[in-house]
Amino acid sequence: MDMTPDAYLESLFPPDPDLARVNEAIRARGMPEISVAPGYGRLLTMLAAATGAKRALEIGALAGYSGICLARGLPADGRITSLELRPDYAALALANVTAAGYGDRAEMIVGAALESLTRLEEEGRRFDLFFIDADKENYLNYLERSIRLANPGAIIAADNTLLRGRTLNPDKQGPAVLAVREFNRVIATDPRLLSTHLPAYDGLALAMVR
Ligand code: SAM
Repeated sequence: MDMTPDAYLESLFPPDPDLARVNEAIRARGMPEISVAPGYGRLLTMLAAATGAKRALEIGALAGYSGICLARGLPADGRITSLELRPDYAALALANVTAAGYGDRAEMIVGAALESLTRLEEEGRRFDLFFIDADKENYLNYLERSIRLANPGAIIAADNTLLRGRTLNPDKQGPAVLAVREFNRVIATDPRLLSTHLPAYDGLALAMVR
């Protein structure tokens, strides 16, 4: 039987026990299987390493898949801060990031991300790499907050910009679709950013803060 392109490309990479552990925990607990796609996870690691990022911020932790990918690309004195609404998800994500060997550089903040972002801004925190991957209705808010928290040259990535095709279907007018459509337009046109949209998997927006 023919393989799909995704399955073929994925078969080229060696097994990844740390990420497999995350996927098993998600299945065992009946959690939604909505971690970042493997190819984009590897891209997050590459972006962290290639840009020399020291401080990464992810919005939406789930079970720690993207947290591990981001942590892998940071230097030993780097730090990843994860914002997660649900305490049970946050605890699992931290356990998985720790099991992968990055507990010493992981910070988990539980609560609504907008409130956590306000606190980070009040504390004067700054970041080099952002991964936006939480409630879609707030994507534009998360983009604005990320720009305010960004060091010059910081990279912002945002997942699920295609919403399985709903973003480009004019018949779809739900709040998440409208919000992501506007987010996609802004990230493509905002003069504060250098940006691109990647169409693989469920779509990924990438921007550099000038
Ligand atoms: N980034 C994760 C990964 O790739 O491993 C997947 C994140 S999942 C798509 C979205 C997460 O955002 C869920 O864990 C959900 O609980 C969290 N979330 C939803 N609304 C949120 C909010 N307002 N503040 C913080 N986290 C939120």
